[in-house]
Parts: sequence; structure tokens; C-alpha cells
Amino acid sequence: MWKTVGHDKAVSALSQALTDNRMSHAFLITGASRVGKMSLALDMARALNCIGDDPPCGVCGQCRRVTDELHPDVRVIGLEKDSDTGRLRTVISIDQVREVQRDVSLKPYEGKSRVVIFDGAENLREEAANSLLKTLEEPPDQVVIILLALDAANVLPTILSRCRRIDLRPIGAEIIADHLYRLYTTDRQLAEEVARMSGGRIGWAIQATQEPEMLEAISDRLDAVEQTVASSLEARFEYAEQLARRFSQGRAEVLEELDLWLGWWRDVMVISQGKPELVWNVSRLSALQSTSASTSLSQAAATVKAVQRAIDLLQRNVNSRLTIEELMLAVPNVVISPA
Ligand SMILES: [Zn+2]
Repeated sequence: MWKTVGHDKAVSALSQALTDNRMSHAFLITGASRVGKMSLALDMARALNCIGDDPPCGVCGQCRRVTDELHPDVRVIGLEKDSDTGRLRTVISIDQVREVQRDVSLKPYEGKSRVVIFDGAENLREEAANSLLKTLEEPPDQVVIILLALDAANVLPTILSRCRRIDLRPIGAEIIADHLYRLYTTDRQLAEEVARMSGGRIGWAIQATQEPEMLEAISDRLDAVEQTVASSLEARFEYAEQLARRFSQGRAEVLEELDLWLGWWRDVMVISQGKPELVWNVSRLSALQSTSASTSLSQAAATVKAVQRAIDLLQRNVNSRLTIEELMLAVPNVVISPA
């Protein structure tokens, strides 16, 4: 059974390709963070190695070893920690790619296919990407390379052209809520609220359901977003400085906070369009309505774009403080009346 939830089209296309024995050797799976890219890639790794009747059966030794991260032929390559600073590096190194190449030149150790998953293909820069390109151009038999990326626009075109693309879209809130209620919580209201907050990102929703402290942390961050939206430019610049400082210590956390900015302005847009039932941050409805009342739809849309651009630039390692300051300048002046 495929574990992937809510991406039925991609799953059925892949199962058909498996049945017809015409799997590609290289895939690029794109989609928002935690939308299900890694789940699908691991499903593919199971399906390619499964020895059960209906791959991926999920229960045979091969499937289980992939699930338990113990399969010697299935590897996930991502950003490594720098041994000197202990921080995550910002690129996948050429040494990591070379190691993969040594690996894939050998026959699978115990399975039918070697599967290499690159988590964050946008972190493959020129040298490493060019090196990987050779493998993508002439893939050894029994090797499948799966690249994951947030946005194909940030993957080098030479790489892009060698991969079969699978674009994962946000999943409907109803599907996520049902899944959460079936497997992760007995609280239907919580399932529905988290499903809406997730913006279609099921991995995020599952984690939030299991970790109440995550929801609390989000609530604190939303407080910061709400305050900053309604504050003076000076206060916004202070916020920008603080965010940039935190970015140098841990990128993921700041990118998550900017995701909340994105969600905020996306919510303002849907309210301005007269569809409050589609709001993600249900707990902030009244502040969102105030924001919507003091901005136009086109201002909200422009702000969504500005936040997206800032996230994009930060992922490409552009000067973080300037980028966030520029974003703060692009956010319209808003008055939020007390609820
Ligand atoms: Zn199996």
C-alpha cells in the first residue's frame, strides 16, 4: 500500500509506470515544504524494491527496511552539519555527490534498485550539480535518483531537463482532517483546525497534531506577526534585524516564520475576496478582518508576492537583513482594532 496521502494522481501514474516496467531513472518532485515529497519518494523506494504481491506492500522485508531507514540500497542525501561550527551547511557538497556516484556504480546490495533521494535539490550548486549531471545523463541500470525541491525554478535547468517531473499541490483540508482523525487524534475539532492551518501540507499537519507545543510556538509567532503588521516602520526594522540574526543561527525556523507571514497575507486575500471560510489561521479571524478592512485586495496580493520573493532570496543565501528589511517596507500600513 502506498503511504502517500492526497496525491492520488502522482501515485496512480507511478504505479502504472511500475506495472508497465517503464520507470524513469531520474525524478524531480516539487512542492511546498512538508506537503508529502519525502513520503512519496520513500513510497517509490519501497515500490522499486518490494518483493510482495502488490508493491509497495509495506510489509515485506524490503519495504520494512526502507521504512525503518535500514535499507542499504536506499539513501537520503541532504545538508550535512559542518564539523567545525556544528551548523548545517547551506549546500550539498561535491564530495557527497561523488560518494553517491561510487555507490551507484555498484550493483544493489540486497534490493532490486538503488534509490538515492536528494532532499533539497536547490542546494546542489554548480560544481556538485555538474557532477551529478553525468550520472543523470547515463544512469547505471537499477538506479533511480529522486530529487526533491520546493520550487523547480531554483533547480539548475540542466538538471531539470534530465528528470521526470512530479509537482505536488497542497492537499484539500478535508482529506487532511479525515487522515488526522483516522490515525492521529480523537479530537475532530483539532483535526479540522490543524488541517486548515496546514495550508495543505500534510506532514506539517501530522506533526502539529502530535506535538501540542508546536501549536503553542506557532501561536506565539503569530502574535509577533500580528504585532509587526500593525506596528511602525521602526518597530518593523527592529523585527527584521532580530529575524536576520536568528537566520544566521538557524535558517529553517526563520523560513517557517516567514511561512506564517505568507499565510497571514494569503488569509487577508481570501477575506477580501469574500471567502472567510477558507482562512487558514482561524484563531486570528478578527485581526485578519481588520487587516483586510485597511488594505486593498491588490495590496494584499502584492504583499503575498513580496513574502514569497523574500523566502526565495533567503533560500538562495542573499543578504538576509536587507532582504527582510525590504520585505518590511513592502508590507502595507495596517490598523488592527482590538477584537
Ligand atoms: Zn513490500
